[in-house]
Amino acid sequence: AKAEGRNTVRFFDPGMQAAADRQIALEHDLREGIRRQRFELHCQPQFDVAGRLVGAEVLLRSNHTGLGLVGPAEFIGLAETSGLIVPLGAMVLLETCRVLARWARDPRLACLTLAVNVSVQQLRQPDFVERVLAALLETGAAPDKLRLELTESVFAEDVEAVAGKMHALRAHAVSFSLDDFGTGYSSLSYLKRLPLAELKIDRSFVKDLPEDANAGAIVDAILGLARTLNLQVVAEGVETQAQRDFLVAHGCALLQGYLLGRPVPIEAFERDWGSAGQE
Ligand code: C2E
Ligand code: CA
Ligand code: CA
Ligand code: CA
Repeated sequence: AKAEGRNTVRFFDPGMQAAADRQIALEHDLREGIRRQRFELHCQPQFDVAGRLVGAEVLLRSNHTGLGLVGPAEFIGLAETSGLIVPLGAMVLLETCRVLARWARDPRLACLTLAVNVSVQQLRQPDFVERVLAALLETGAAPDKLRLELTESVFAEDVEAVAGKMHALRAHAVSFSLDDFGTGYSSLSYLKRLPLAELKIDRSFVKDLPEDANAGAIVDAILGLARTLNLQVVAEGVETQAQRDFLVAHGCALLQGYLLGRPVPIEAFERDWGSAGQE
């Protein structure tokens, strides 16, 4: 039939076939990558307004031989829908703690906070708190240097349960950051219920600074809110000097973005900022 013919044609569309092949390769890569530990942690520096390095964010990359270095945009979604984000996230967390333990022995790196992205699916695991504490204990990493980045998707969860887990980890000095702030669903009352240390202004607002008046107003509102709630603020995606100047002039204390430093492999970060790379 004609309809069938059309379906057949669509099915064999070479572009779609290639996309499907890539998808299959990526899911296979994900499982294999977790099993064979074929992931790399990259790391992006965070600075205060005086230009001092104060911390870094861990960003995951997949190193598949056939595909080269693949960014999280291509596999985090798949990891989320397949549930593989739970073992993958556990691996990233453990590896992040290993990095922190190593940094503790380097005077130049020992004071840095290392932030890692945590999926709401990880947080939802009944043993999440125990897993984080086990990773810290196993590696000897300092809990007060570990920062967990959550997104506003946590507000779609049982907020009391989330807050309970956060408080349990807070009691061990682990801190929390609310990532991509302003893009999702959060109300002032919810914000107050979570023991957060930090808000991260999403890049979508920073991008249009300083020309766009709406973006400027939103950034100001976030900075005001953070002051009220006594939270640190990091602006992410700072790409231009003009964006930086606006943020600094408006009281944003911490900056992250290509202008200041791109994500690089952990080893490169350690070479650039650690004692080994200095005279
Ligand atoms: P995110 O947490 O918002 O991370 C910031 C993203 O912005 C990173 O993209 C980073 O490379 C990029 N970025 C930083 N500065 C700039 C800039 O100045 N300009 C532009 N255009 N981009 C900038 P990346 O590494 O591709 O990560 C994308 C997202 O994947 C992350 O967004 C995060 O949501 C997720 N992700 C990355 N690693 C992990 C992980 O280990 N676990 C989980 N659950 N998610 C992760
Ligand atoms: Ca993040
Ligand atoms: Ca972010
Ligand atoms: Ca983002």
